[in-house]
Amino acid sequence: MSKLYYDLDANWDMISSKKIAVIGYGSQGHAHALNLKESGIDVTVGLYKGSKSWHKAENDGVKVAAVADAVSGADIVMILIPDEKQGQVYRDHIAPNLKAGAALAFAHGFNIHFSQVVPPDNIDVFMVAPKGPGHLVRRMYTEGKGVPCLMAVHQNFTGNAQELALAYARGIGGTRAGVLATTFKEETETDLFGEQAVLCGGVTELIKAGFETLVEAGYQPESAYFECLHEMKLIVDLMYEGGIGMMRYSISDTAEFGDYMTGRRIIPDATRAEMKQILAEIQNGEFAKKWILENQANRPVFNAMRRSEAEHQIEKVGRDLRAMMPWLKK
Ligand code: NDP
Ligand code: MG
Ligand code: MG
Repeated sequence: MSKLYYDLDANWDMISSKKIAVIGYGSQGHAHALNLKESGIDVTVGLYKGSKSWHKAENDGVKVAAVADAVSGADIVMILIPDEKQGQVYRDHIAPNLKAGAALAFAHGFNIHFSQVVPPDNIDVFMVAPKGPGHLVRRMYTEGKGVPCLMAVHQNFTGNAQELALAYARGIGGTRAGVLATTFKEETETDLFGEQAVLCGGVTELIKAGFETLVEAGYQPESAYFECLHEMKLIVDLMYEGGIGMMRYSISDTAEFGDYMTGRRIIPDATRAEMKQILAEIQNGEFAKKWILENQANRPVFNAMRRSEAEHQIEKVGRDLRAMMPWLKK
């Protein structure tokens, strides 16, 4: 098994007197900034004038400054704005203000791996990527727990980049759960593959295909929704807690037999071959290029898909059903 790093492996002295600029105050940004601050670190959040997040950060008691000002005083600059904006903000506001010997940090490898950010030689570049949404990174920390993180070093100018990354992971609670060393390449490629083939693209299409099959066969959309979407969480929760085995232990033997008989017809060799092709397009940069150009063109495909997906029948049925589940109400 690969080595995992925990609290006691992290040298807190590496970071305890450092100034950290957290750029962005969204999902990850608010979690990193607040967790680091409560860990005793001097944190400044970097935003732009007129940003909606500015007041939010101030109300949370965090220091806020324009990106350039936050960066010029910082020993570590963690970039937590949307991936597609990082290149521009880096070139305009971060690079001109980064001091020699400072560290540039990321929570995802995309921009370094696909050369949208090209850092100078005289800084450290590392990644601390929580394997969970930002709001969980925050909530788990306040509960004395943590979200596991990946850590990687792209550039080790000071010779301390990995120790710095590990101490940073401790500051956000990551070493409470375990930190795994990886590379920018591995994190970027596995993250993109996972979200496309399995977690997001794979799961949503599987759910919709099941739902449509039942509805087209004349079954009530409500029962198709419960069966294909609602129950997905219950099944995944069991796997999360105890692996596939625990899920199969909990379901009926009839369901387990159906699982063995049918799973491979749903994911046949053709699907596995397509997965390999998708991975190849991630590895050779084709997907990255598509996404970068899509953003430069103002997202025509992304916006059209977002609109048409929002109109799918499963979304309408789901809205009505969830409205009757009081525990889901915000
Ligand atoms: P968000 O979309 O939540 O970030 C939005 C924040 O960035 C807001 O505070 C926004 O301000 C600010 N922002 C937008 N544009 C600028 C700008 N030009 N200058 C300064 N601030 C700006 O990002 P995420 O937290 O989702 O992602 C951040 C990074 O973390 C990415 O690299 C992502 O891949 C990675 N990551 C994200 C995860 C997640 O849970 N979402 C999980 C693991 C990694 P305003 O709203 O006021 O415009
Ligand atoms: Mg991702
Ligand atoms: Mg059933």
